[in-house]
Amino acid sequence: MRQSLASKTQVQNFDGKQCITDVMKTYMCVVCGFVYDEEQGLPDQNIAPGTRWEDIPDTWTCPDCGASKEEFELIEI
Ligand SMILES: [Zn+2]
Repeated sequence: MRQSLASKTQVQNFDGKQCITDVMKTYMCVVCGFVYDEEQGLPDQNIAPGTRWEDIPDTWTCPDCGASKEEFELIEI
């Protein structure tokens, strides 16, 4: 009986940090200053936390002043 040497397989897990591409953005209404945070969403408006700005329907308007999505600007943090 031969004893087989079990070869050790080393699985290298490259845990690539994807946080750079996965950053949540924040948008602000230029009319009234209302801020939409993708991370928080707008539960009051049936917009779940984590909803991307581009996933919000174009019919959506600013809850404070009624401005359209076009009136919002990306805030660089
Ligand atoms: Zn507004």
